[in-house]
Amino acid sequence: MTAKPHSKILTELLNLEGMKVESYIHHEGVGVILHLTAESKKSICPQCGELSQKIHQNHRYLVKDLPLMSQPVYLDINRRQFKCCVCNKPFSEEFNFVKKRRTYTCRFAKNIVNQILKNDVKNVAQRNNVSPEEIETMLKDASQDLIGSKPSELQRLEIGQTTLYQG
Ligand SMILES: [Zn+2]
Repeated sequence: MTAKPHSKILTELLNLEGMKVESYIHHEGVGVILHLTAESKKSICPQCGELSQKIHQNHRYLVKDLPLMSQPVYLDINRRQFKCCVCNKPFSEEFNFVKKRRTYTCRFAKNIVNQILKNDVKNVAQRNNVSPEEIETMLKDASQDLIGSKPSELQRLEIGQTTLYQG
């Protein structure tokens, strides 16, 4: 396979660790669609932790990403399904830049949430071509992420206090 020069540039621009841009299409009135696949030929089985490189199936799915030069960007991701040779069961690879069952990337949601903090929902929804319902989900996810990060912060505070008392 010959490497296309634009793929390397787009992969750099995309800046999603472990992912590469295979090709792209520009659809007039829709935006830019980047076809992505993971760089690694292997994935770890979530059941047993065994590294697998036996591809079972290829599934594609589309998620919204941050706009590029004022154009909407969609990622057409090849989510590969591997077959674990230990468990003998298929499993799908996970991506850390999209939450489960979401149709947009984490950085897209983060950007929207940041806009909401300064604007009203309707305004931001219109400007970013998303529904107010999607924004509601993004806000819920963001607050859940905050709750999730609290225990470690509390722990650090407690550790800090213990150190203070000991000193
Ligand atoms: Zn396994």
